[in-house]
Amino acid sequence: MDLQKVLNDIKDEVLAANLGGHLPTYIPELEHIDPDKFGMHLQTLDGRSFAFGDSSEKFSIQSISKVFTLVQAFRFKGSELWKRVGVEPSGDPFNSLQQLEFENGIPRNPLINAGALVTADILVSELKNPKLDFLEFVRELTGSREVFYNEKVAYSELECSHRNAAMVNLMKSFGNIQNDVNLVLDFYCHACSIEMSCAELANAFLVFSNHGIIPHNNKEVLSVSYTKRINSIMHVCGFYDEVGMFSYRVGLPGKSGVGGGIVAIHPTDYSVAVWSPELNTKGNSEKGMMALELLTTKTGYSIF
Ligand code: GLU
Repeated sequence: MDLQKVLNDIKDEVLAANLGGHLPTYIPELEHIDPDKFGMHLQTLDGRSFAFGDSSEKFSIQSISKVFTLVQAFRFKGSELWKRVGVEPSGDPFNSLQQLEFENGIPRNPLINAGALVTADILVSELKNPKLDFLEFVRELTGSREVFYNEKVAYSELECSHRNAAMVNLMKSFGNIQNDVNLVLDFYCHACSIEMSCAELANAFLVFSNHGIIPHNNKEVLSVSYTKRINSIMHVCGFYDEVGMFSYRVGLPGKSGVGGGIVAIHPTDYSVAVWSPELNTKGNSEKGMMALELLTTKTGYSIF
């Protein structure tokens, strides 16, 4: 199959659909992004890559970072992790507080804000230099040193992090946060502020298509069984309260972020990242969802 032609057709069809959407307003720095940016990068495990548009331009990965914090926390804690955070879809918006109160400060899963605040707390405890060590981990997965925090975005979010602060305090009151809440929030907002391009994200996620081994240096990050678990969590928890619709339309595990990025993986063959900043009401990229739906529809390369 001519995958470059498939990607070119996807670009044309998505642009012709005139989807619209909105930029997130609650993180002031993200409001200034050009809404017309649109790029996609597909990376196969056998070393081929296909791309279009703004696929090499960096953007704010936001909640996509929750997969990286989850992987590191899971490596440190193993199945003990599941005493502090669940693996069920939340069915609620990503920043909801309600469920946390009813469920005694144990977040439904590690890919909503509350769950990622718990994995952030674990990394603040376990890593010697949490922000630096975490960034090094993401760089290693990506195979590039050109991955950085955007301090402006991190502080812009920290200043407006009232809901996340409420969550972390509520969880602390239940005994599910061990560190100072400001340290945890600072780490969390920095992780969200990491900037990567579609090409970099697709490379970083290829480890989940390769049974936990980083393809470019053959290093084992996760066992086969742990990789299965991370992929399952992405599949049932990766798209806020739109996870069912994403699975129905696309049929791949993945994760989205309010920066407009979506990354998805096929567990044995490829990873793909798409970026377009305009979001739907659930917080997922409008064009990104359509592009990925077209990819698996045209190629048949979903997990089903
Ligand atoms: N930094 C964002 C927040 O905590 C991430 C949200 C997202 O990408 O889903 O609200």
